[in-house]
Amino acid sequence: MESLGVLLPIPMNAYLESELDRRYKVFRLWESPPERRQDFIRANAAAIRAVVGNSKAGADADTIDALPRLEIVACFSVGLDKVDLAKCRERGIRVTNTPDVLTDDVADLAIGLAIAVLRRLCQADRFVRSGAWLSKGGYKLTTRFSGKTIGIIGLGRIGLAVAKRAEAFGCPISYYSRSEKPNTNYKYYSNLIDLAANCHVLVVACPLTEETYHIVNREVLDALGPKGVLVNIGRGPHVDEPELVAALREGRLGGAGLDVFEQEPDVPEELFGMENVVLVPHVGSGTNETRNAMADLVIGNLEAHVMNKPLLTPVV
Ligand code: NAP
Repeated sequence: MESLGVLLPIPMNAYLESELDRRYKVFRLWESPPERRQDFIRANAAAIRAVVGNSKAGADADTIDALPRLEIVACFSVGLDKVDLAKCRERGIRVTNTPDVLTDDVADLAIGLAIAVLRRLCQADRFVRSGAWLSKGGYKLTTRFSGKTIGIIGLGRIGLAVAKRAEAFGCPISYYSRSEKPNTNYKYYSNLIDLAANCHVLVVACPLTEETYHIVNREVLDALGPKGVLVNIGRGPHVDEPELVAALREGRLGGAGLDVFEQEPDVPEELFGMENVVLVPHVGSGTNETRNAMADLVIGNLEAHVMNKPLLTPVV
């Protein structure tokens, strides 16, 4: 049987790459210089029947057009914003992602960021390391997390897991999404400004789509206000970043815990000097346990596809 040709646009998790190598013929796009990548795809298009993407690179319209034999895009992420889903539907190309297995880690990080911002954990750590505890005495007082109202944009798998954790801290939960969710007692807002005006910590946990691009804009930030904290564990472009920086600079927003940014890995330098901001490099699902489970799911989907069996986590 013809071996499945798999295109990797960028380097992936080492375990995933080794499992792909064991099974399939893998084409590593980044090994060609940028100006020769189109040629590389053209030269190998007859063999490439699968693309494995992630949150940084997937399969855009040009890539899909250049691969006439493409059958499946298996994403090493739950978010599908780097895949042209409409084009895949049109061409009958299957698409899979990695839901559920990463939910707990991302929700843990959201809570961690909120606590780190309010309790100034990173600054307090630097205070000890720099010797300031010895020279200046005790650290300044901070703000409690327990009991604060948590607003969640997108009460899906991750949003619900954030809510469940926050409930254990005695936090009232409210949320905004396109539809009210059955089977929860959480307060639903059909208007994001109202949610932001009525919560202390606003967590972004929805998918990145045309509709949710810059969903957190100046109005939302101003509604969240000088005591409010924004936590973004969704995607960078959910937030209008220049407006976020301005709101923090001008004291119109209380703080921010950010895992994702508009132009990763570029982060606005102005944030580096801000005490009320905690920055992490898109590590929501970045534990050994979760990344291995995500890799197994990618392989499981490709294996199912090759064997003509039902896909494990199909999206298209
Ligand atoms: P999910 O289960 O599909 O949940 C998404 C939620 O967002 C749903 O409740 C949906 O409800 C809501 N939503 C969709 N469109 C919306 C809109 N226009 N306005 C408001 N709410 C909207 O997805 P998930 O597994 O929780 O993942 C959510 C996102 O987290 C992913 O798409 C990904 O981008 C991000 N993520 C980030 C990391 C990281 O490392 N930081 C890791 C994993 C995932 P309605 O349909 O009712 O609107």
